[in-house]
Amino acid sequence: MASLKVVTILGARPQFIKASPVSREIQGSSGLTEVLVHTGQHFHANMSDIFFRQMGIPEPDYHLGVNSLSHGAMTGRMLEQVEGVLLREKPHWVMVYGDTNSTLAGALAAKKLHIKVAHVEAGLRSHNMNMPEEVNRILTDRISDLLLCPVPNALKNLEAEGFSAFPSQVVLSGDVMQDAANYYRNQSVKPQESLPERFVLATVHRAENTGSVEKLTAIFRGLEAIGSHCPVVLPLHPGTRKKMAQYGIAPHPDKVHIISPVGYLEVLYLLENAEMVITDSGGMQKEAYFFNKQCITLRGETEWTELVEHGFNRLCKPGEDDMLQVYLAVRDQQADPVPGLYGGGKAAVRIVSALLNYQKEGI
Ligand code: UDP
Repeated sequence: MASLKVVTILGARPQFIKASPVSREIQGSSGLTEVLVHTGQHFHANMSDIFFRQMGIPEPDYHLGVNSLSHGAMTGRMLEQVEGVLLREKPHWVMVYGDTNSTLAGALAAKKLHIKVAHVEAGLRSHNMNMPEEVNRILTDRISDLLLCPVPNALKNLEAEGFSAFPSQVVLSGDVMQDAANYYRNQSVKPQESLPERFVLATVHRAENTGSVEKLTAIFRGLEAIGSHCPVVLPLHPGTRKKMAQYGIAPHPDKVHIISPVGYLEVLYLLENAEMVITDSGGMQKEAYFFNKQCITLRGETEWTELVEHGFNRLCKPGEDDMLQVYLAVRDQQADPVPGLYGGGKAAVRIVSALLNYQKEGI
């Protein structure tokens, strides 16, 4: 039987990490071939190339070079260019990951051409429609044919939105980020930049936190306050760096130790050695859990509610008093890992099998 062609759309850092276990599984499968499209959304060497190199992801077959534009312009240009690739490649499937503009553009281009869409990380909801990510994920889910859910909560969200009446197929695959962490955790690499002996690991990049001078200032006040107890190491997202320069934010370097964004293997080292994680990243909330670390999430809500329920994660308002108080309350706490919470590292196998079995039911 001829193999099915899958066009995978990638563009942003978390998507490279999520796609790596699935690409590896596709390479080992006789039933699927993959064409990689990089939209260009993330383009700095340490936000893109390093992940391809470290995680053995094949070179993209297409690089669209779309970046640094407003949401509408970026999504529109991606849509047009992805359509061109799909007309040329004529795949059986388009696979999209997560919740970025690349995700939505890829799904929309495919659906309008009647090409089947598989969405990895389907069903997650923050229920906050001001987040661009929430809009992207809701629209992508609605037009996907195969919805690959990382956790049972995602299935519940889809059910509540009426998906059981839609013709799409919903599968509980587990979380591909667990697969990636399991595969690479023994290959962690110490970052080149010097680090304090003990540290809290922090990341901040989400638009809701970086978009206002008040909010970002409040976050850095909080990090400095925590840094007086334990230095904070912050691999700084280029978007946040830009905003800090614009707002004139410069935290005390002994309290908040800023380093350049690092590769995945370096993140694993930082996670392994951190006392705690403070973040507004979706991925880091789970990675803290994979390394049995407590996490403080600088947001009003999270898509990964199971971590809050099981005592691994706390939501916290940006600000000196709130952040310090939560840090002091949490720093000596421990919670028991829940076996299989994220699918046990078998998500990529289940995803490939869902693609192949869907085919049996007839494309
Ligand atoms: N990450 C990385 N280098 C860094 C910071 C983060 O490799 O300097 C990884 C980390 O594994 C994280 C992933 O990038 O889970 C997700 O990226 P990000 O936080 O930008 O996006 P989100 O998960 O919020 O969509």
